[in-house]
Amino acid sequence: MRTIQHWIDGAETRGSSSRTSPVFNPATGEQQAELLLAEQGDVDRAVAAAKAAFEEWSESSLSRRTRILFAFREIVNRRQAEIAAVITDEHGKVLSDAAGEVQRGLEVVEFACGIPQLLKGEFSDQVSTGVDSYSFRQPLGVVAGITPFNFPAMVPMWMFPVAIACGNTFVLKPSERDPSASLLLAEMWAEAGLPAGVFNVVHGDKVAVDALLDHPDVAAVSFVGSTPIAQYVHERGTRAGKRVQALGGAKNHAIVLPDADLDFASDHLAAAAYGSAGERCMAISATIAVGSAGDELIDVLDRKSRAVRVGPGRDPGSDMGPIVTAASRDRIVSLITSGEESGAKVVVDGRDLVVPGHENGFFVGPTLVDQVSPDMEVYTEEIFGPVLSVLRADSVDDAIDLINANPYGNGTAVFTSHGGAARKFVRGVTVGMIGVNVPVPVPMAYHSFGGWKNSLFGEHHVHGPDGVRFYTRAKVVTQRWPELERDASFDMPTAR
Ligand code: NAD
Repeated sequence: MRTIQHWIDGAETRGSSSRTSPVFNPATGEQQAELLLAEQGDVDRAVAAAKAAFEEWSESSLSRRTRILFAFREIVNRRQAEIAAVITDEHGKVLSDAAGEVQRGLEVVEFACGIPQLLKGEFSDQVSTGVDSYSFRQPLGVVAGITPFNFPAMVPMWMFPVAIACGNTFVLKPSERDPSASLLLAEMWAEAGLPAGVFNVVHGDKVAVDALLDHPDVAAVSFVGSTPIAQYVHERGTRAGKRVQALGGAKNHAIVLPDADLDFASDHLAAAAYGSAGERCMAISATIAVGSAGDELIDVLDRKSRAVRVGPGRDPGSDMGPIVTAASRDRIVSLITSGEESGAKVVVDGRDLVVPGHENGFFVGPTLVDQVSPDMEVYTEEIFGPVLSVLRADSVDDAIDLINANPYGNGTAVFTSHGGAARKFVRGVTVGMIGVNVPVPVPMAYHSFGGWKNSLFGEHHVHGPDGVRFYTRAKVVTQRWPELERDASFDMPTAR
């Protein structure tokens, strides 16, 4: 059995870990590796390596940092298919989707290649006679990233390219369910010429997370995962005096107005609900049919849900792969059953799906559930599986009220051909990322990604301009080079 190790100070290491957890291939249901789980001492070693590396890295010139980022970009780009294959084998998503997440991560690297421009400060000449003022930003020190299973390459790449470009050093604690992509990325950084210790990976569970949150030498923590853990990480990390951004779970609604092109809308809804087996924080899991849109929408969605081809991620004929673990699959199945028992109608049922040749894989087929009401568990829980619930509303206002009553506020979308209704929706929803006829409105790397309400704890969104702000702090300098004037005053300094 392959053992997956940590990456500390530029090399793979077992560290002092004695506990392990299994890593499965979700398409076959077989265990393919065991993962070392870090103890406190392993985290201490990774943070110490990062702290030592910070001294030199934070002093390295913008040109040197940029050159290494460009080199890393080229290597990841060249080895994209290799990373995608590793993701597919551990996560289950289809290869084209895995390549897509690497591509979205690369876009953040490309954004970070512009760090000389992004870190330009501001300068005011002659704020007072003979006095200038300027501001600039400096890195924080050692920063940590704690990431979820559903994007084993992209979510870490939301964080570390920007953090490292800004002059910080990084300790990544990836998901224990699909940890191997992070090690490939570590190797690629080394090949790009990043000094040892600037990027480290410690694998682990709560023990490693708590050690990072409490460590006095960790200045900031970026977290992405489920809402209860995000809240916990935010509370514990800020209590320990750290800067924390913690992105949580989601319940993303799409509303479909009667004037929408239903064929277009349902194609996109099916892709947004069932793509990556619904294991995306921006997946559409609830559709609100407004007014007369309802019955026809169900008919079209029924057809499109049945047309989705489910199979192993490595098969180019599959649109959708398996669920990440057996436990996640069982939870999804039980939530569908709970919806049915509370009166919802399961129009397309993926619970008993068996993929020939992959009978032990963790598969659930696309599931369409109609007549869902907001009190049902199938609606209130984040299912994180290929399940699309349909609710009804009489008007756009009612649909907006329903969305705003939901504790999550990650993403949402409106399907309509009416500009005024779309504008009202965009302005009225308490959600961070909004699509107009775009079901999965993930911002590009040069904007920032983040939700509202229980989908994000902390001030900053990730990557883009907010990423640069999160990973740096500002200094403002007021300077004078006096020519032997002696004009010190006890009054508050004012411009003269
Ligand atoms: P998770 O919360 O189970 O795990 C996230 C990270 O926290 C992992 O690294 C895990 O090891 C760690 N962790 C788990 N339990 C912990 C505990 N008790 N104490 C400390 N650390 C712990 O999330 P997941 O199942 O890996 O990922 C799916 C979730 O992530 C969904 O809720 C999804 O919506 C969310 N997500 C959100 C975004 C976003 O941008 N808002 C993006 C991707 C995923």
